[in-house]
Amino acid sequence: MALSPISRRALLGGSIAAGVVSALPAAAQSPPVPLLLDDASGLNAMPVARHWRPARVTGEAWLDALRAELKAAAAEGRPVAVGAARHSLGGQALARNGVAMTFDVKPATGSWLAIDRDAKVFRVAAGARWRQVIEALDPLGLSPAVMQSNHDFGVAATLSVNAHGWPVPHGPFGTTVRSFRLMLASGDLITCSPTENAELFALAMGGYGLFGVIVDLEPALGPNRLLRPTYELLPAAQLGPRMVERLAQDSSVEMAYGRLAVDAQRFLRESLLVTYRPAAGTPPAVTSGGALVSRSREIFRAQIGSDEAKRARWHAETVAAPKASSGIASRNRLLNEPVANLAGPDRSRTDILHEYFLPADGLEPFLAACRVAIPRSRQDLLNVTLRYVQEDRISVLAYARGPRVAAVMLFSQRKTRADEEDMAAMTERLIDAALDAGGTFYLPYRLHARRDQVARAYPRVEELVTRKRHHDPGLLFRNTMWDRYFAT
Ligand SMILES: Cc1cc2nc3c(=O)[nH]c(=O)nc-3n(C[C@H](O)[C@H](O)[C@H](O)COP(=O)(O)OP(=O)(O)OC[C@H]3O[C@@H](n4cnc5c(N)ncnc54)[C@H](O)[C@@H]3O)c2cc1C
Repeated sequence: MALSPISRRALLGGSIAAGVVSALPAAAQSPPVPLLLDDASGLNAMPVARHWRPARVTGEAWLDALRAELKAAAAEGRPVAVGAARHSLGGQALARNGVAMTFDVKPATGSWLAIDRDAKVFRVAAGARWRQVIEALDPLGLSPAVMQSNHDFGVAATLSVNAHGWPVPHGPFGTTVRSFRLMLASGDLITCSPTENAELFALAMGGYGLFGVIVDLEPALGPNRLLRPTYELLPAAQLGPRMVERLAQDSSVEMAYGRLAVDAQRFLRESLLVTYRPAAGTPPAVTSGGALVSRSREIFRAQIGSDEAKRARWHAETVAAPKASSGIASRNRLLNEPVANLAGPDRSRTDILHEYFLPADGLEPFLAACRVAIPRSRQDLLNVTLRYVQEDRISVLAYARGPRVAAVMLFSQRKTRADEEDMAAMTERLIDAALDAGGTFYLPYRLHARRDQVARAYPRVEELVTRKRHHDPGLLFRNTMWDRYFAT
């Protein structure tokens, strides 16, 4: 397959965060090596026809160029998949032999962010990353209302997976978005909000790019403040109800998370609840990383294959760190964490996330099943973080159909076929356990669910597929999740 000049330029322009794994073919090379893109898992290397990475991602000329690219892809019969950081782990931002698009915001090339203090929203270009947003909001004393725990991700991608964060009490990101503009397969540009094109608002929010290209959006913002943590150690069996109770009783809590022990003796039995409330003082200018972060990354990675390191980390997190400092930090500082803080150098392994959303009283039955299934697998569980997510009554693929406690699990997996098969089998078991406990599972990770599990977790999936075929009859917008879970 020939590489177009634009794809060569795009490839030379720099690698995506997940990594472009192919080498640029030498000019004389024949036939050309196909352009391969992968995502952060390193398990989805996929040939693409071209990677469109425009220099400008705002303004009318860009919209015209986007329209022309969509038209060209449709004429060639190629699927289109937009991505940002490509940290979804199952090719949700990739389409085989399709046109990949990535919209990097370069602040010098145009106005990409506008703030409306009165309405407490900001308008932002789709491809902006959260680190750019934080950097722009921080000097104004402002902060995003909801975003993920790391700042590398794209803002429109955050809407497309309908991510949640650890600021509380909030539903998923989409529930804090006032409107967005969507370019449809036809090239028409429409505004979607709860009152305008409301159906597409609910479909594209958490719709994994299957309904069109989001070109900009208006998420909510709030004040940046200094926050002070409070730590509470408790049996994991009590954590779900306690988290919900704490947040219901105390409206001063602005951010909250839980943690579960992963060493063999305390495995998913001991927990820590951390709640952040406002502290007096003016936040300093936001920073990221630093020596402390490097140290905590070393401690985190040392856990692979070492129960001793897992015990040491639990001690550091539950005893040493709370004693060592007040932990006071600005909200923006807490949100301004790169994924690289977790990354390890061993290329034979990859980090695989899972996430399950449980009603508060469903967390313990779910954990009981995990205590059996995970140690029987070949997977190394390095971290479990708990979050609180309010009900989402808007998106068609809602994962929080009531208030939910989210259990985010980070596994270190070897990149071998046996480990991949083992991961798939274990995931099926954990999904069954979550469903039996009244919960759901999150879609941006490995595509290891059975289709009956997808249907049980997402009861409106048939509606999503029917409306997809209505709004995009040529199936221009496709990715591997569509192929695996939704296409018949
Ligand atoms: C270390 C780590 C921490 C995480 N923490 C959290 C967390 O705290 N909370 C949480 O909810 N999730 C979390 N996630 C999951 C994360 O939110 C998703 O993986 C998200 O997709 C990452 O953003 P991205 O820019 O990498 O998206 P990509 O993988 O690039 O894209 C994701 C989806 O969005 C679509 N898309 C992207 N841009 C557009 C656009 N302009 N128009 C239409 N569709 C588009 C893509 O087609 C794709 O389907 C985490 C993931 C990792 C790896």
